[in-house]
Amino acid sequence: MKTAIDKVVTLHYTLTDESGATLDRSSATEPLAYLHGHGNIIPGLEKALEGTEVGFKSKITVAPSEGYGEKKPEAIFEEPHENFGPDMNLEPGMQVYAEGKHGPITFTVVELTDTGVVLDANHPLAGKTLHFDVEVVDVRPATQEELAHGHVHTGHGHH
Ligand code: ZN
Repeated sequence: MKTAIDKVVTLHYTLTDESGATLDRSSATEPLAYLHGHGNIIPGLEKALEGTEVGFKSKITVAPSEGYGEKKPEAIFEEPHENFGPDMNLEPGMQVYAEGKHGPITFTVVELTDTGVVLDANHPLAGKTLHFDVEVVDVRPATQEELAHGHVHTGHGHH
């Protein structure tokens, strides 16, 4: 069976950046399963997997425009210190969370200044060229329920 719209694809992947540092990888015991053609994974990876079958093994390079987008300068801003709890030990590189209109938003702390905290709301992988090492281990038709929900249902409950 070939990877196509409405198929559930299971794959092992390792994600590295330009320097070769590993950013993310699927668990050895529980590879990533996703519903193909529904925007559940980044566009560059979804396109590269189109038409592949079990056993497909490849290195896939994804430009920022086909990945997590370019870094938006307007998403980097300063919040005054008083907007943070007194016992938050903020440090550059830390992630903080806020409740947004469409669910939780993650910010990365860029730096602490005399007046406040510089936060970056860009996705941590925005602006990065991504290198995936992938292996397709299963392709199956999605169930009616999965299609109705627009995502995969695994044996681990609903997410
Ligand atoms: Zn569901």
